[in-house]
Amino acid sequence: MQRGTCKLCHQDAELQLSHLIGRAIYKLCRKDEGDDSIVMTAKVVMKTSRQIREYVLCTRCEDLFNKGGERYVTSLVWRLRQGFPLLDKLQIALPIQREPDYRVFSGERVGIDTDKLAYFALSVVWRSGIHEWRTIGNQTTSVVLAAEDEERIRKYLLGETELPANVGVAITVCTDMASQVLVQPPTLLGNAGGYLIYRLLVRGIDFNVLVATAPNIHFLDLCCVRSAGKKIFFKDNSRITLNSVRHFYEESKLARNVCPKPFLRGS
Ligand SMILES: [Zn+2]
Repeated sequence: MQRGTCKLCHQDAELQLSHLIGRAIYKLCRKDEGDDSIVMTAKVVMKTSRQIREYVLCTRCEDLFNKGGERYVTSLVWRLRQGFPLLDKLQIALPIQREPDYRVFSGERVGIDTDKLAYFALSVVWRSGIHEWRTIGNQTTSVVLAAEDEERIRKYLLGETELPANVGVAITVCTDMASQVLVQPPTLLGNAGGYLIYRLLVRGIDFNVLVATAPNIHFLDLCCVRSAGKKIFFKDNSRITLNSVRHFYEESKLARNVCPKPFLRGS
């Protein structure tokens, strides 16, 4: 432990070694993949036991994140031996909308606590926004969040406010294997005409955190907290996931201990 100011509650406290994507998710990956997980950065793809963790939060705030969403998300994601509990649940449920390439379910009707899914996604994107997380060597991963959004999300994460009015979270349960086996830290996908999209992928659940930069955008059709019935999308997301992986493999130096392009064969 190390003494310092907790980035969430701003109190002076003993700080924990906080994980960017949460300790519970990290433990799950370690259990499935052995001691070493594949880490992708802009410069290198390698197997490493290096964890993305640093002294950022106090014990109380770590616990808040764990109970607020991390533990719940960990119980729903794909895992090597137990399969994918959230996907299984949706496969036997009735969708509220059926389109050629996707379906939409009501989290409320299916009995999924989408508020906790949103809390988890925001806790990870916020962590990525407030700190440069060291990955391998002197490389770091982080996203840019506007100072006022960072502060609004911080208050929401502390339980002081509701979900900020200009923020939404869209959840997609992925039916493809490529999205189910991977964990990808938050990246800023870009500006979609009045709002920013931050993407985070955790073992088959694709979280899009949406932050409006123009007035009167409330994500009422997309957000798993504010949409009618609390929507959850369900689709094959392999195109998006494989594109993001392909970028890593093509741009990065491949370490010798990584099998070349494991997910790209035949694509
Ligand atoms: Zn704290």
